[in-house]
Amino acid sequence: MIKENSPVILSIHNLAASVEGTPILKGVSLEIKAGEIHAIMGRNGSGKSTLSKIIAGSPDYEVTAGKIIYQGENILNKEPDQRALAGIFLAFQYPLEIPGVSNLDFLRVAYNAKRKYQNKEELDAFDFEDLVREKLDIVQMNAAFLDRSLNEGFSGGEKKRNEILQMAILEPALGILDEIDSGLDIDALRIVANGVNKLSNTDNSFLLITHYQRLLNYIEPDYVHIMYDGKIVKTGSKELAFELEESGYDFLDLEVAI
Ligand code: ADP
Ligand code: MG
Repeated sequence: MIKENSPVILSIHNLAASVEGTPILKGVSLEIKAGEIHAIMGRNGSGKSTLSKIIAGSPDYEVTAGKIIYQGENILNKEPDQRALAGIFLAFQYPLEIPGVSNLDFLRVAYNAKRKYQNKEELDAFDFEDLVREKLDIVQMNAAFLDRSLNEGFSGGEKKRNEILQMAILEPALGILDEIDSGLDIDALRIVANGVNKLSNTDNSFLLITHYQRLLNYIEPDYVHIMYDGKIVKTGSKELAFELEESGYDFLDLEVAI
């Protein structure tokens, strides 16, 4: 859903990052505007998850060069919780199980933290439950999941649906989905993808990270980028994902070598 003159939500300039002295990202540049859906594809180990974690503020990586500008502000010195409050949401490839914390309480605390940040009134347990119940349909989730411990004993598909539910409630300006499709059967994939499609609007943006083209049959990206050895080496339309599906990633070794 691209509008004319949409504001830039995320702008990454020549980002380089290392872990324990080993360079992982080697100059990544990317610009995402409001209303856009971008996909990053690439082989395992090319740096996709590293990029998503660095945008979210993971302390595991050292940024050695470049900038990350989010809604006009350089966020590299901001803590992960500040970035989250400002509207950056990272859905994990492997969502954590947190026994003893009810899903509903977790969602309410996260939601109210954001309301507070926005100087809005916090919702009490009853009003919040009404809000959540409205959102459950987006991911076809049963209300029984709200009373269970966060992700504990959830199937792979249920965990990913729960990530989308969190996103539906927090309404981020930038949703980053790292391999949201991994481990999902076709029905769960469809539900998760439909959830993202329902949440996508002209004010927000999504960065989908995926190894497979399959997800892009359900969520249509405006741009597809290919990451190779810590860099984005190719950017194109969704057709690029189909080409990749046909030829595999091997052609990159040749192209990049030339
Ligand atoms: P992708 O998501 O594209 O599969 P990753 O970003 O997970 O790739 O990993 C890129 C490279 O960085 C891999 O070689 C991986 O082993 C390495 N790497 C990522 N995170 C760490 C870390 N915390 N410690 C050591 N190596 C890491
Ligand atoms: Mg990864």
